[in-house]
Amino acid sequence: MPDDALTDQTKLIASGREKSDKSHMVNPAIERGSTVLFPDYKTFRDRKKPFFYGRMGTPTHRALEQTVCALEGAEHAMLTPSGLAAVIVPILALSKPGSHILVTDNAYDPVRGFCQNLAKQYGIETEFYDPCLNDGIEALIGETTTLILAESPGSLTFEVQDIPAMAKIAHKNKVNLLVDNSWAAGYFFKPLAHGADISIQAATKYPSGHSDAMSGFMATNDSKLADRIERTRRDLGYAISADEAALVHRGLRSMAARLPVHMSNGLALAQWLEQRQEVAKVLHPALSSHPQHDLWKRDFSGATGLFAVLLAPVREEQLERFFNRLELFGMGYSWGGYESLCIPTEPVYYRTACPWQEEGQLLRIHAGLEDVKDLQADLDRAFAAMTDGA
Ligand SMILES: *Cc1c(COP(=O)(O)O)cnc(C)c1O
Repeated sequence: MPDDALTDQTKLIASGREKSDKSHMVNPAIERGSTVLFPDYKTFRDRKKPFFYGRMGTPTHRALEQTVCALEGAEHAMLTPSGLAAVIVPILALSKPGSHILVTDNAYDPVRGFCQNLAKQYGIETEFYDPCLNDGIEALIGETTTLILAESPGSLTFEVQDIPAMAKIAHKNKVNLLVDNSWAAGYFFKPLAHGADISIQAATKYPSGHSDAMSGFMATNDSKLADRIERTRRDLGYAISADEAALVHRGLRSMAARLPVHMSNGLALAQWLEQRQEVAKVLHPALSSHPQHDLWKRDFSGATGLFAVLLAPVREEQLERFFNRLELFGMGYSWGGYESLCIPTEPVYYRTACPWQEEGQLLRIHAGLEDVKDLQADLDRAFAAMTDGA
């Protein structure tokens, strides 16, 4: 393992590939498989083998877990087949019928779906809370509360939460604080260092980085929590293939080089969009106009390329002209790949604790790794098509 004095940029290169690796290749071997052969009867009986069945992972998975530990500053890291699974596993691990859980109102929408469907079906009661409550969350914690799920900045609307303040309240009340850290990619924000118990990532996004793999990370410093999470992951039968693990690991190697480009492209676009007459508001935590800009500045060391734009009022056919004119920005779900994306979003349908009040169409933009001048020109043409003969 690389030593702690190294920076994250170096750790992402040096972790998860032991010098003693028998292949002598730069990268850990991709060990696919189900069956592991035991050398003799006694070893089989004792199960004294670090690897004994494919679903529990292979050296390819362990190598990726080591790099995730280095990135998140964690003792333990576990992998899931999707980011959604990485949120669900700890919730199930820490709850039972009758449990009450607190989930931020701007959580990734399929997480809301899980809370309202499967979790409910198994007797777990979800209360959605205003993402700006911060230490006011204490008033919502009851006898049966087991955990708080935060996501900062949150999906679609990008509110930044005061994680250190929430962690203090969580610990005082003996509940666990889980943070969905996908936006910061584990790189620009360190939930565990800020007091959270579990940091979660959709590794599908920036860690994979090329829109060609799906997985999730769960990281913690608490070995008891790690045991419960790993137990639940196994009980659910969630396993990721060695090929997928190797792809995500490959993505992590270049992540520290990619993220600053996503950051500068995203910021340049956000600042440029803020000046456009077609735009009412830009929701980007690194802009001084963002309501929680100071929290972001205090706790984050940078920004990735994902943010939102609130358009000034437009008609549906104008929006259609805007989107159909875009060439470099693709229209599609997910983000964190090398390519730019732009989609219309509707937070009004996903809120229950604090309804979304803004008028006007919200767009979510992912700034990819293209030349930002080309991205601006693309948006410029789309705005022209939108307002043409408006
Ligand atoms: C995309 C996303 C997830 C889910 O990741 P998948 O790999 O698509 O399941 C979870 N949380 C956040 C914040 C996300 O953006």
